[in-house]
Amino acid sequence: MKDRHAGVLIVDDLPFMRTAIRDILNEGGIPVAGEAENGLKCLEFYYRNPVALVLLDITMPVMDGIETLAKLKHLDRESQVIMCSAMGQDKYIIRSIQLGARDFIVKPFKPERIISAVRKAIELNV
Ligand SMILES: [Mg+2]
Repeated sequence: MKDRHAGVLIVDDLPFMRTAIRDILNEGGIPVAGEAENGLKCLEFYYRNPVALVLLDITMPVMDGIETLAKLKHLDRESQVIMCSAMGQDKYIIRSIQLGARDFIVKPFKPERIISAVRKAIELNV
């Protein structure tokens, strides 16, 4: 792996959700490395530009978050991933943790929930 970018990669198929998360991270003083609209774009981005943390939606076209998580972990065992998914998708929590996600945030979320989860994940791996 190349040098790791200190920021967060935001992965969600909905532009307004990516913007909302970006705004929250900006407010919290957490650097954003980039955005991706599906799992495939996420993997392409990460391969070229490994980041400190990936915030990963589950329901997305092309490649969903569960498959993306498995592939990210295969690409980089040390990758740090927090799942971020809509209510009613809790059935994926256990699977995500088994695959190596470090946290699971349920939408709609409070900004503080994102900030504290992201800080915890990044501080442990700087
Ligand atoms: Mg989605």
